[in-house]
Amino acid sequence: MRGLYVHIPFCQTRCHYCNFVTTADHSPGLRERFLAAVSTETKHVRDRYGRLSFDTLYLGGGTPSSLNIPELRRLVEGVRSVFEFKNGYEFTLELNPGDGDETKLKAFREIGVNRISLGCQSFRDAILKKLGRRHTVRDIAETASKIRQAGILNVSFDLMLRLPGQTVEDFRGSVRRCIELRASQVSLYDLEVHEGTPFGQSLKEGELDLPGEEDHARMYESAIEMLTSAGYEHYEISNFAKPELASRHNLIYWHNQEYLGLGPGAFTYLSGIRSQFAWDLARYFEKCEATDWKNDVEDRLSEEEKETESLVTGLRLCEGIAPASFPKIYPALKDRLQTLYDEGLIEIFGGKSRLTTRGKFLSEDVFAFLLLKGASSTATPL
Ligand code: SF4
Repeated sequence: MRGLYVHIPFCQTRCHYCNFVTTADHSPGLRERFLAAVSTETKHVRDRYGRLSFDTLYLGGGTPSSLNIPELRRLVEGVRSVFEFKNGYEFTLELNPGDGDETKLKAFREIGVNRISLGCQSFRDAILKKLGRRHTVRDIAETASKIRQAGILNVSFDLMLRLPGQTVEDFRGSVRRCIELRASQVSLYDLEVHEGTPFGQSLKEGELDLPGEEDHARMYESAIEMLTSAGYEHYEISNFAKPELASRHNLIYWHNQEYLGLGPGAFTYLSGIRSQFAWDLARYFEKCEATDWKNDVEDRLSEEEKETESLVTGLRLCEGIAPASFPKIYPALKDRLQTLYDEGLIEIFGGKSRLTTRGKFLSEDVFAFLLLKGASSTATPL
């Protein structure tokens, strides 16, 4: 399996926690410059790797719907003319609730979109306001309904936890609404506070009222309990999907398979090399326009590093992994795995090792401990 990700770096406004590669300037001139740059980058990739074939296409950002329909069509036709897409490929578009009227949603369907990832984040208006989101709770239900009316039936919902002022009951209410609105998948994201964002500044000034660890853990446990009782499969640490509706694109990352990322900030993993062509928008324009194709970040992974990546990304999946199938790194990890079993963070299930519920909640600590020595550190681009 191989996936194609295209990063659309425009948003109407900037959320207070955002540190993604995106700009609130989405003027026609800048959008035109972006489309021309993606087209040049796409042709460069074809010259370097040939006519690659993909199982998934994912338009993320940013806000992909910041492009108008002729622009989106041009972008999609551009990549389709250069690459192969397998029959029945998954085509996801990220959408903010409230964006996209009936005409636009129908046009998404005609372009080939068959899955929408809806950035709900919370079902409390006061919290959405604090986050600096443009939408309201009412927009979420209305947009989900319009998406289905337009013929796109696979609608995945993103929810955030550990938000300022959020209580366990608020969060449970949000999960309940996802179930009621028949989300095909629910993806959970912990709020990360970054320096240089308004939230980073508030945290420094002691003004960010975040839930404590205990409430955070209760939110996560509530999600597991409520979603699995409602028939969702808990297939990855933070992802729950109705049978057969797990995101195929994200599974490519977690199975450590190949992906190509186009656009500013996007990561690529092809032929054993993990790379990032340009880390921000200004640099992306400058490099595409000068046809300077040297990657800003490029790592050729050794066999040990490939195994390490596969082990860590595989441990994110609830199906688990067989550690002994990583012969190059297993001897160095054996004792640390034993410690994790002893501490109840990893368990054996169906002949494989997988994180326990506590291990999932503490997954970043588990991975840091596992990779302390004898294996390279790793990070997925998502
Ligand atoms: S919609 Fe997403 S990418 Fe855009 S500003 Fe908000 S968090 Fe950032």
